[in-house]
Amino acid sequence: MRVLATLDGIVVDPRAPLFRADDLGVLRGDGIFETVLVVQRQPREMGPHLDRLERSARLMQMTLPERASWERAAQAVIDAWPWDEHPEMGLKLVCTRGIDEGDGTPSGFAMGQEVGPETRRKRAEGVEVVTLDRGYSTDLMERAPWLLLSAKTLSYAVNMAALREAEARGADEVVFTSTEGTVLEGPTSSVVLAEGRKLLTTPPASGVLRGTTQGALFRAAEAAGWQTEVVNFPTSALFEADGVWLASSIRRITRVRAVDGTAVKVDGALDEEIVGLYESNY
Ligand code: PLP
Repeated sequence: MRVLATLDGIVVDPRAPLFRADDLGVLRGDGIFETVLVVQRQPREMGPHLDRLERSARLMQMTLPERASWERAAQAVIDAWPWDEHPEMGLKLVCTRGIDEGDGTPSGFAMGQEVGPETRRKRAEGVEVVTLDRGYSTDLMERAPWLLLSAKTLSYAVNMAALREAEARGADEVVFTSTEGTVLEGPTSSVVLAEGRKLLTTPPASGVLRGTTQGALFRAAEAAGWQTEVVNFPTSALFEADGVWLASSIRRITRVRAVDGTAVKVDGALDEEIVGLYESNY
């Protein structure tokens, strides 16, 4: 299932061609995107997603169509989506730098996609992850901003390759590590740990994406009296924690059952509490 809208809010045939072959998004992955979860017509964390889209555009030195056009396109998709059939939708907001040697006008669209059975299975059953070296140190973002760490660019080929590597090793998911051996993030997720009544995640200054789902979880957790900490931690912390989760818009909060073939602590009641905290936002 796909519903596609252009930035002027017009729903178009998702099977019809939309981009020119000389669009820089096609030629070089030169563009940015967001994926927003929409449940029964209600987008989750739309403000933080649009803030992050604007931040990615700034890091890319790219013109971004105005916020109202993204909201208009998103609403057009939401209005056209078959909610009775598919109560959840992944809404992609995509913007490229536009035509090669053109006038710099960006190209963009909003597209709704259904949330697949595999994602729902992982949410229900949890996931096994492998740690994979991401090949950079936690201070690289500061030293080399042109590498665009922490921008959500369309260049996700490496992230997808890492997921194929996980599959080849018999796992579901990946946790990237820095050259110092600290935990970074998943290819499409933030990593969250519980230590007692404290939740931890990795700082965006280490080059990871600032997760809107992790942000929503921490907001609810703080309101419920949990402590939260944004800090670098070694891979060994995954084995010492009371629980480990991958957080992202589409997967929501998915517990990790094993890391590199070794079981990590899974506490059903704690998992329910953490998922409940996140869901209490909506
Ligand atoms: N980190 C990366 C690299 C991602 O691609 C994503 C989402 O796709 C996340 C973290 C989690 O972000 P969010 O919770 O905003 O979906």
